[in-house]
Amino acid sequence: MGKIRFGKYGIVFYSSFGVPRKNSGFAYGPIVFILPEYIDDRGLLEHELVHTRQFWNPLKWFKGKLWWEVEAFKEQAKWYSDDRSHAYARLIATNYNLDVSVGKVEELLKS
Ligand SMILES: [Zn+2]
Repeated sequence: MGKIRFGKYGIVFYSSFGVPRKNSGFAYGPIVFILPEYIDDRGLLEHELVHTRQFWNPLKWFKGKLWWEVEAFKEQAKWYSDDRSHAYARLIATNYNLDVSVGKVEELLKS
């Protein structure tokens, strides 16, 4: 087991264990796994910590995967100097089994 970080709402393990294929990180409720090569990726860490916060907030439980990811990617985007909203929109629209267009997600990310 690699490095561990503690967020306010969860615990993060840097380990390939628990990370689904094609993902770089994954949150199981308050327990997060991030691939070790992303140890310095603050945006990814903050993305997954958003999911741990969502887990503890019943008001957010029924908002759905699209809403959860948009909130997490919005937070993640704040940590990079370049604009990644188009790449994130594509990722959300194609990798999360959501019936939504890239354009619609881009709109949500900018709202
Ligand atoms: Zn996410």
